[in-house]
Order: sequence, then structure tokens, then C-alpha cells
Amino acid sequence: MSGQRTPEVLVVGGGLVGLTAALVLRHHGVPVTVVERRETTSPQPKARRFHVRTMEIFREMGLAGLVHEAARDLAGHDHMAAGRTLAEAEQLPLWQPTGVSAVEVSPELPCLIAQDVLEPVLRAAAVEAGAEVRFSTELLGFEQTTDGVVGRLAGEEIHAQYLIAADGAHSGVRDALGITRSGQGAVGEPNVNVYFYADLASVVRGREFNLCRIDHPDIPGGLASVDGRRRWVFMTPGADTDRDWPTLVRTALGVPAPDLEVRSVLPWQAEMLVADHYSAGRVHLAGDAAHVMPPYAASGANTGIADVHNLGWKLAAVLRGEAAPSLLASYHAERRPAGWFVADQSTRRAESFTLGTPDPTLAHPFVLAAGGFQYTEGALVPDGSEEPILEFAPAGRVGTRIPHRWLDDSRSTVDLAGPDWATVTGDQVDFLSDDECLLVRPDDIVAWRGASTAEATKVRDALLTA
Ligand SMILES: Cc1cc2nc3c(=O)[nH]c(=O)nc-3n(C[C@H](O)[C@H](O)[C@H](O)COP(=O)(O)OP(=O)(O)OC[C@H]3O[C@@H](n4cnc5c(N)ncnc54)[C@H](O)[C@@H]3O)c2cc1C
Repeated sequence: MSGQRTPEVLVVGGGLVGLTAALVLRHHGVPVTVVERRETTSPQPKARRFHVRTMEIFREMGLAGLVHEAARDLAGHDHMAAGRTLAEAEQLPLWQPTGVSAVEVSPELPCLIAQDVLEPVLRAAAVEAGAEVRFSTELLGFEQTTDGVVGRLAGEEIHAQYLIAADGAHSGVRDALGITRSGQGAVGEPNVNVYFYADLASVVRGREFNLCRIDHPDIPGGLASVDGRRRWVFMTPGADTDRDWPTLVRTALGVPAPDLEVRSVLPWQAEMLVADHYSAGRVHLAGDAAHVMPPYAASGANTGIADVHNLGWKLAAVLRGEAAPSLLASYHAERRPAGWFVADQSTRRAESFTLGTPDPTLAHPFVLAAGGFQYTEGALVPDGSEEPILEFAPAGRVGTRIPHRWLDDSRSTVDLAGPDWATVTGDQVDFLSDDECLLVRPDDIVAWRGASTAEATKVRDALLTA
């Protein structure tokens, strides 16, 4: 072995979740190394919808503006469209969840940006923040010792205090730890994604869309805008990848598209599986390594980003000696039920999407988009309150993200915590009475609801050292 490095945290996987883990850890001042076996960031556009909660996390790290700027190609492409072919498709009215408008939910708007555009932004930001980000570098194995983790690379070892496995759905780290997964497994039929280039700007102008449903009897599917002009993904049911895709896609488009060029054909199967343990010793699973879910609620990457936002401050507090290592047990206690909830909701959404029948158990869309899931145990003091899921009605309940309200100094309540803890009092917001006070964790989760800020400080210290 030629070299030895000693970051405090080793992140395996440089996808959306691994790169965000590095950003969160640097935000908390933790030395971190990311190893990614691919030479480049994702060549596939895959995820495109990033919820307000993810944009709040990027906002905390000073990145929301950069991400919105990189997303400008798809700005205004929020509509759905439908037709027999693209040429015949009509833009559908913009669908909005009932009861509350997006601007009341968050200081940030959601963002449509293709994964292959977002990942380079995160990679550059992580490097700028001081993370060591090494592509073309594969983790070949690892072992845990009493005081750390040793990662084995080709000709090199990395010694770290903790390892985050953000190594995707087929996580080798999860397998090496023998961590099993539970859940429904396959959901629905297999699909094929055909990623292609074709200049369709003049075809879609004036009826821009995020997703266009194609009802052609020979080749039904959905056409997703990647940049709204030249890059597209056509998704169609089936397992056969060996078809005459240029002809089929032209049929779905209903225009000659003489410059059409198929870039890749990706078979995929929606699955619902959640790891039974998110942590094993000094190793913590995050992102698709911990949970896979059907993409119909656009929540896989968003949930993974929330995982590392939760884990990052806890690792930092333990590494700084401010918290006992037992704090890290709250990662599994909080994020495993959250992962299960979102994976289950995504599965219900997939089934109601396929069957076309409304499902009364579907959570309000903002519950998924704004981190409305309530932790009932973990690094908090439960107060017996219950956050509803069929409606979006945040009220500062313990275990939920603090509701967004603009404050007198033009900050949002969501801006108060991170990287530090915060308190919010009844004279600042309308969802508390005058004599109430909330203790808010660095990840914006309400940890305690009580009467005085002095008591809040004591509760914080007790939670860290429990
Ligand atoms: C069609 C489709 C649409 C989707 N749409 C959305 C959406 O709109 N919104 C959303 O939130 N999610 C969406 N998703 C899900 C989203 O793409 C995934 O949840 C997300 O990419 C997971 O990120 P990750 O970083 O956990 O894993 P990955 O992106 O899989 O990254 C894992 C990385 O680890 C690397 N790696 C693995 N093993 C090693 C090793 N031993 N050493 C070094 N590196 C290693 C891999 O090369 C890979 O780059 C969609 C998925 C699909 C298929």
C-alpha cells in the first residue's frame, strides 16, 4: 500500500447523495473524502424534480442560486402535456396541490433540473468547499476497527472515523455488511428509457412541458424534457431493449426529426425496498443504498439528500466531541421510518398512476415535498403530537421540519438553524403562543417544544450527551 489518508469521513459514491454528503460535512467543517468509481458524473439525466426541501438544504449551503441558474433550460417547463403524438399533444393546465400555495410552504421554489446537469454543480461546489473528491477511484473493500474504518482502494488505504455508503441501489458496502432489505420489491412492469437528441424546439414552443403523455397505440409512453430543446427521454413500458428505437420514437413524436440520435437505452424496473438497518458500527447507508422507490413521486434522490442532511450534523457533533457517539443511533431511528414512508407513498402513487384510480391514503404532495414526515423517536423529546399526512398543516410539532414563515429581518424560519441549533419564540411566529419556545436542530427539525430558551439550551445539551 503506497499512501494513507485520514479524512474524518469517507464517502463511497459520488452521485447526488454522496456529493451532497460531502457538502453538508464541509458546511460543518468536517474533513471528507469522496471516492467514485466512475470517471465522470452521471451520463444519464434520470432525476429531474427537486423538491422545496432539497432546495432549502442547498439554500443553507449557499447553493440554491447556483442550482436555479444551472436549471434555467427547464424554467417554466412545469406543465404536463398529453396527446396521441408529441405533434398532436396539448399542454394541460398547471396542477397545484389544494389548500396552500408553494410560496407559503417554503422560502424556496422546487427546481426542475436534470441529474446530469446538477451533479457537476454539486461536484464543483464540494471541491470548492474543501472536500477531496476522487473520481475513477473504487472502494475495493473496507474493515471496521475499534477506532475507525479502513477503506481499501487500488494500492492505497484510507483511514477514516466514519464511512457513508452512498454507493447506490446495488450497494457493495450494504452487501458486505450483510444488511437485508424489506419491502414490496418490484412494482409494476419493466420499462425502457430511451435517451435521445433531436432538435424539437420549434415543435414544443408555446406548449413546453415537463412530461408529455403519449397515447399512440403502437408506442405509448411518456416524453420527458431534459433541456426542453434538444435532449429528451422517452419512457415506454416493456423489457425488450433491442427494438428499432429511432423509428418507434419518431412514431411517438409524430414529426420526421431527421437529426434524431439515440444516445442510450436503459431498462429499469421500479422497486420498493428499504434497508433493515441504516447503520452498522461506524458505517451509515444513505440514498439508494438505503432505499429504492418508484420514481412517480420524484422522491428517491430528494430522500437521499435529506438522509445526509440528517446524518451530517450528527457526525460533526460527535467528531467535535460535543456529542456522544450514541447520538448516531438516531440516524437509523429517524431516517429508516422516513425512508419507508416515502418509499411506501411512492409505491401507492405508482399503483394509483397505473390503475388510474384515486387512492385516499396518498399523503398531501407538500408532505413529501417539504419534509412533512414526523420523527417519533430519535434526537428529540416527543410530545405526543401527530402531524397529519393527508393534509399539509405544519404547526411546529416535535419531530417535523419547522414551518416556513418570513421573519422581520427577511429571513425565513427555515434559515434560522444550520449549521447551528436555533430557538424560535412565540413573539416571532404565529404558530406558537406568546409563552412558547421551540428548539430547532441544525437540520431544521423541531427537537423540543417548551416554555423558555434557557430550558431549550439544557434540552439540547441533554440530547447531545444522552
Ligand atoms: C427514470 C428515473 C427518474 C427519476 N426521477 C427522480 C426525480 O425526479 N427526483 C428524485 O428525487 N429521484 C428521482 N429518481 C431517483 C434518483 O435518480 C436516485 O434516487 C438517485 O440517483 C440516487 O442517488 P445516489 O447518490 O444514492 O445513488 P447513485 O446515483 O446510484 O450513485 C451511487 C454512486 O456510487 C458509485 N459507486 C458504487 N460502488 C462504488 C464503489 N465500490 N466505489 C466507488 N464508487 C462506487 C456509483 O458509480 C455511483 O456513481 C429517478 C430515477 C429514475 C431511474
